[in-house]
Amino acid sequence: MVVRDIQRMVESWAPKEIAWDRDNTGLQVGELERRVRSILITLDVTDEVISEAKRKRATLIISHHPLLFHPLKSVTRDERVGRLIGKLIRSGIALYSAHTNLDFTRGGVSFALAEQIGLHNIGFLMKSQRVQKKIVVFVPPNDVEKVLAAMAAAGAGQIGNYESCAFTSTGKGTFKPKGDARPYVGRVGIREEVEEVRLEMVAPTWKVERVVKAMQEAHPYEEVAYDVYDLTNVSDHYGVGAIGQLHRAVEGRKFLETVSRSLKTSVLRYRGNLNRKIRSVAVCGGSGSDLIPVAVQSGADAFVTADITYHRFEESDLRLLLVDAGHSETEYPVLRKLTQFLRKEIARRKESVQVFRSAVTSNPVHYYLS
Ligand SMILES: [Zn+2]
Repeated sequence: MVVRDIQRMVESWAPKEIAWDRDNTGLQVGELERRVRSILITLDVTDEVISEAKRKRATLIISHHPLLFHPLKSVTRDERVGRLIGKLIRSGIALYSAHTNLDFTRGGVSFALAEQIGLHNIGFLMKSQRVQKKIVVFVPPNDVEKVLAAMAAAGAGQIGNYESCAFTSTGKGTFKPKGDARPYVGRVGIREEVEEVRLEMVAPTWKVERVVKAMQEAHPYEEVAYDVYDLTNVSDHYGVGAIGQLHRAVEGRKFLETVSRSLKTSVLRYRGNLNRKIRSVAVCGGSGSDLIPVAVQSGADAFVTADITYHRFEESDLRLLLVDAGHSETEYPVLRKLTQFLRKEIARRKESVQVFRSAVTSNPVHYYLS
């Protein structure tokens, strides 16, 4: 297997198109055709992580945080990013990052955090909108199956656990070929009326171009009549944050104990009434303080995230137990899910690439407890 194969695998779960538009996900260092023997999964790339990759003979590191994020002015040994890039290149290690695409996909960063603290019935805190479009095309009855199959193969018609989903209805299409037209049906200059099938399928916005091209290639007409509609449906696959329930309601104090234990951290910053019962819990791995109002609106009893500033705590609604459990701590659980996902996909393809979760603590934040 090569890096490109692993990239395709990751992006089949967390498409790069759903990432934040100012993000930098994808291949950061190395070549897509580089052979992959083993993979090391980490939140961040550090000198220690690269040494670990070398020890484990990994030719690919997958990091959650992109090493290349801010524009670089130079690549030298004197600054961190340049030094790390140099090391990766000299060691023949490719670096691929799955950042906000891994945040925004079902089962990603926030779902992993929710599972880690023991929630069940997990769903998105806020589902994404406008990630789908509808493609409608008018096809002669005998060609419907062929066009439908071509569109489905290009990625249209996937709804939940169902594929090749389509709707068809029959009607009449009219046209008058003119000039140099070479009509599939009828003759130049004569108005025709033919039976046609209206074929409708949905597709993710980033696959529309591919689907339309496949549809046009499979369609017998010289000029294909089709429409692409914007949809405002919310997505079941993509969104931000997560919300779920504890198996039984517990007091705030007990809840903090659970969070601390499950995330293996002895430091939690919080605001709220510790005597109130907690049952419904919203979470967002990493910097999720923009979602505080959404968590309040969702009716959650607690919201666990990271990087909450003093004023965000000050402004928070006391009905909600607001918990800052640390950036690295709230994102770490996704590494296990990504590792499991890749191992399963690689085994399914009967390949023998090893996948390791980094044993190095890449958290740049340390705590002093007196
Ligand atoms: Zn992060």
